[in-house]
This record gives sequence, C-alpha cells and structure tokens, in this order.
Amino acid sequence: MKRDQHFETRAIHTGYKPNEHFDSLTPPIYQTSTFTFASMEQGGNRFAGEEAGYVYSRLGNPTVQILEQRIAELEGGEAALAFGSGMAAVSAILVGLTKANDHILVSNGVYGCTFGLLTMLKEKYNIDATFSPMDSVEEILANIQDNTTCIYVETPINPTMQLIDLELVVRVAKEKGIKVIVDNTFATPYLQQPIALGCDFVVHSATKYIGGHGDVVAGVLIGDKETIQLIRKTTQKDMGGVISPFDAWLLLRGLKTLAVRMDRHCENAEKLAEKLKEHPKVSTVLYPGDFEHPDHSIVAKQMKKGGGLLSFEIKGTEADIAKVVNQLKLIRIAVSLGDAETLIQHPATMTHAVVPEKRRTQMGISKKLLRMSAGLEAWQDVWADLEQALNQL
Ligand SMILES: *Cc1c(COP(=O)(O)O)cnc(C)c1O
Repeated sequence: MKRDQHFETRAIHTGYKPNEHFDSLTPPIYQTSTFTFASMEQGGNRFAGEEAGYVYSRLGNPTVQILEQRIAELEGGEAALAFGSGMAAVSAILVGLTKANDHILVSNGVYGCTFGLLTMLKEKYNIDATFSPMDSVEEILANIQDNTTCIYVETPINPTMQLIDLELVVRVAKEKGIKVIVDNTFATPYLQQPIALGCDFVVHSATKYIGGHGDVVAGVLIGDKETIQLIRKTTQKDMGGVISPFDAWLLLRGLKTLAVRMDRHCENAEKLAEKLKEHPKVSTVLYPGDFEHPDHSIVAKQMKKGGGLLSFEIKGTEADIAKVVNQLKLIRIAVSLGDAETLIQHPATMTHAVVPEKRRTQMGISKKLLRMSAGLEAWQDVWADLEQALNQL
C-alpha cells in the first residue's frame, strides 16, 4: 500500500490482500493455536527462522499480522506488535528498553496502571522514574541522568488534558541519545503522529479509540524494525501478553472507521466543552481543543484536532459531585474511553485511586474533577442529560 494515499484509505486497506485469502473481502479470523508442518525438516526450518511461515500463535498469527502491518503504517513506523492489553504493550517496551538500576524520565501524569508498573520496576529492579512537566529544554536536561535510558510521555495527559511538546522532548532526547516512547491512546494516529515528529516508539491502549466499540481489551506497540523484532522474540514471546486472533480482527474492523469516528468524537467534545464553560455550576473546563486552553499552541503544532476527551470541575462539595453523576441518565458512569457511548468517571476514586493523594494533587487531579469521553451520540442529547444533572445543584 502506498504511503501517498490518505489516512482514511490506508486504515481500510493496508496489510491485506484478498487474493491471498480466498478473495474474502474481510480479513479472516485465523482462530488456531498452532500451525501444521509438512515434514519434520520444515518444522525445524521454521523454528530456525530459515523458512517463512507460522509456527504457533503466540509467535505470530496471520490475522494478527495484518493488524500489525496496518497499525505500523498508520503510525508511520517500520513495524508493530499487538498485545492482549494496552498495559502488556506498555510493559513490553519499558521492560524491553531498561535493565536494573536504569532511570526513566516520565511526563508529569500518566495512566494509573503505568504509574503502578513504574512503582513495581522501582521496587523490584531499582529502576527509578522521575516525573517532569517537560515544559522547557532546561527543565528536561536537568532531570536527565547518566543512567536515563528512555523518556516516557503521555500527551494529552490523562485526565488533566495538559500537553507535552513532543518536538521539544525529541530535541533533547536526540542530543542525549535517549529513546522517546509516546502513549498515543488519547490522540490516536489520526490526530497525532509522534514518529513523524521524531519519537521512537508509540504505544496504545487499543481498547479505546482503535477498537472504538467498548468490546475488546488490547494494545499495540509501534517502532523500528530491529527493536520490534527483538521485543517480539523476547518480552512478547516469553512474557506472553499476546492478542487473540478474534480481538485482532475487532481492531482491524475498528480501524476502518477510526477517522470518521474521531471527527465526530472531536466535534461532540468541542460542543460539550463550550456548553460546560457557560454553565454557572462548572468552575473549570479542560479541553485541548479549547482556544483558551493553556497549551493550545502545542495542540495547534502537533494535533489535528482537540480529541474526544474533556475534564471539568464542579462548583460545590464532594457530595455535590456525586449528586450530579448519579443523576445522569444517558451518560454512562464507567472508566475507559473512546466508545460510541459517552462515559463519565471520577479519577480521584476510580482511574487514579492507586496514585497517592499527594502525587495526585501535584498532578492536578482534585476530588472535584470529572473526566468525560464524548461518544458518538447527537451532542445535543448528551448536553441535555448533563445540563439536567447540573441543574439539580
Ligand atoms: C487504558 C489506558 C492504558 C491501559 O490500557 P489497557 O488496554 O486497559 O491495558 C494505557 N494508557 C492510557 C492512556 C489508557 O487510557
């Protein structure tokens, strides 16, 4: 598939040739654990890597391979690996790039379980993590140590919607020879292309926008051929966090509509942010697509649109927050994001409950903060629900 085709076209066609699969329009689900060899010699040759072909589905599967080729191409990377969850992808790259006593520089705010993983790496292998706002070259340089092996960035940051300037991070990292990993879950490759900006690796919780329908837990990792192959043969093969062929198929289906869904998610989030800002019971609205967002200049530089997520704080007590949430009728109370349904959650007691309160406050997550994932409904209906709940106060 040619790179000069548009994103929307590549998301539908890349990596799949119907004539190699009995002319099936849709990629088949190769629901098999193992593959047969014509002879003992052939089996030996496949194990030795001297003959192309599949061996066992933890080491590779045709449905999974179509997904890996497609997502690698969409993120502008050389190769990709699919995993059974976003955390399997995050842990594979972090374990893959570090050894005991190394140091990782981390954006000031990451997904709750990524924080949990970093805590475990510190306890078990003395791999230190320094959290940094990454807002200037000097600040980043000051936090880099001799044993810093990678920089791990989430942008927009969950759930505070702060942005990290990827070009700035890359400038420092290249000078120091340090690899940059970006969790691109919130933006998706449709809105943000970290590899084109010079970053080395991209990870996704494909559970979110890539799957897009709230029916699969999965992850992907994209990067250079050599490192991806190394991780395929080590961390992925031996720790075993692989994806099932059926889940890979669901992601292939999700990717076909990613661009049209993202356009609607962004449009709905924009409208909801606008309406929330006008409501007297709302004190703060955090949305990257808002022109008054403090990091709006970074959004304009590296994102196509503001994304489908927004957070806001309510004027009132903690009990008032619960009152509003419990009054919602259409909006679902749930963690996760990127689904057709609009979802709302309370980070302090849900996704970020594992983060110690002091650290949570530093990250800007107050007990009054709610995070919303704009769905694909008519935004007017979502707003009507939110407004009736806010008006209870
Ligand atoms: C959900 C999420 C993860 C973890 O992904 P799982 O698929 O739940 O394992 C990682 N990073 C971000 C930003 C997420 O939203």
